[in-house]
Amino acid sequence: MCSVGIYIHIPFCVRKCNYCDFFSVSAQENKMDEYTKHLIASLRHWSERLADRFVDTVYFGGGTPSVLGTERLNRILEVVFSNFNVACDAEVTIEVNPNSTDRLDFTSLKINGINRISMGLQSADDAELKALGRLHTLSDACFTIDRFIRSGISNFSLDVMLGIPLQTYTSLDNTLDFCIKSSATHISTYMLKIEENTPFYYNKDGFIFADDDLQADYYDLTAEKLKRSGFRHYEISNFCKDNMISRHNMKYWILDDYIGIGPDAHSLLDGKRFYYPRSIEAYYEDNLLYESEGQTPEEYIMLSLRTDAGFCYEKYYELFKLTPTEELLSEARSLEKLGLVVVKPDSICLSEKGFLLSNSVISRLLNTGI
Ligand code: SF4
Repeated sequence: MCSVGIYIHIPFCVRKCNYCDFFSVSAQENKMDEYTKHLIASLRHWSERLADRFVDTVYFGGGTPSVLGTERLNRILEVVFSNFNVACDAEVTIEVNPNSTDRLDFTSLKINGINRISMGLQSADDAELKALGRLHTLSDACFTIDRFIRSGISNFSLDVMLGIPLQTYTSLDNTLDFCIKSSATHISTYMLKIEENTPFYYNKDGFIFADDDLQADYYDLTAEKLKRSGFRHYEISNFCKDNMISRHNMKYWILDDYIGIGPDAHSLLDGKRFYYPRSIEAYYEDNLLYESEGQTPEEYIMLSLRTDAGFCYEKYYELFKLTPTEELLSEARSLEKLGLVVVKPDSICLSEKGFLLSNSVISRLLNTGI
C-alpha cells in the first residue's frame, strides 16, 4: 500500500496581517460551520478515492486553523481517522496562532489525534509583531506554548520571520534565543516579501524594510546560531532538533503524493498536479483544476536540492530511469569550486552559501538541459 499525505486548508483569519497574500476570509461562526460541513463531505469523498492508500501525514494549515475551535476540529479529525487508513505513527499537525488559542482545548485535540503543532510566532518582539499587523504579543505566545506542552504535545515548530520592519541583529538574536529556550523541536524561517495587494504593498513608504543584503545577513545569523544550538538545517528554510523534520512538508520536496482540500489547496497524486480554485464558493462546487504533470526530472532536481540530502542519483534513477548528465555534473563541479554545492559520489547538495543563493544555483544546474 502506498502512502499519501492530507493537507486540510482552513481559510479563516481574525484579521489580515500586513504582509499576507494567502487565501483567507473573515472568521465568522456561520461561515465556519458551513465550511466544516463541506470539508467533511470532501474528506469522505477523498477517502473512497484513496481507499488503497495509507495516510502517514495530516496537516491543518491556513489561514488560521485554531480559529475553528475544538469542537469543529475534533469533528474533522474524527472523520479523518474513521474514513482513511491512518498509520498508527502518522504525523498530525495543526497550525495555530497565539491570539486564537484560548478557544482550543489542546488535551482534547491530542486525544483526537493531533501530535504536532506549528505556531506562527514570527518574532519575540512586541513592536515587530505590531508592525506585521499580528494580533498576538510575546506573552500570548508564551501562554500558548505552555498550554500545549502541558497537554502533552511536545513536538512543535515555531515560525520566525526575517527582515521585519524594526528588526535588528539583536532583536533577531533574542527571537532565536526565545525559540531555542522554548524547547521547540522545529523552526521555520521566512524572509519577508512585499506581495502585491497587501497592506505593506500599499504603504511601502510607511515602513523601513530590510534590503536583500540585510536579509542575507539575517539568514546567515539564523543558520549559524541554530546550528550551534544543535539544530539540523535540513531544508533551505527549516531547522529541526533530533531529526524531528516536518514529515508532511518533506513530501513536497521529495515528490511524495499528497492531496490538498479547500480553496487554493494543491495536490500531487499519481503524477498529476491539481488544485481547488481560490474561492470558497468554487471549492464548494467541487471544481478541481488541472495544474500540470508532476514528478518530472526537473521538479525532482529543483525540489530535492532544497533539502540537505540533495539530489540523490539512486532516487533519480528509481523515479525516472535516468542518471545525471555529464553537463550537469560538470556544472555542479564548477559550482563546487565557488563553494555553492557539494558533489558527493551518490548525490549533489547545496552548501550553506548555496542555500542562500538557491534560486540561481538551481537554475544554473537546470539550464544544463538535463
Ligand atoms: S494569520 Fe496567517 S494566514 Fe491569516 S492573515 Fe496572518 S499570515 Fe495570513
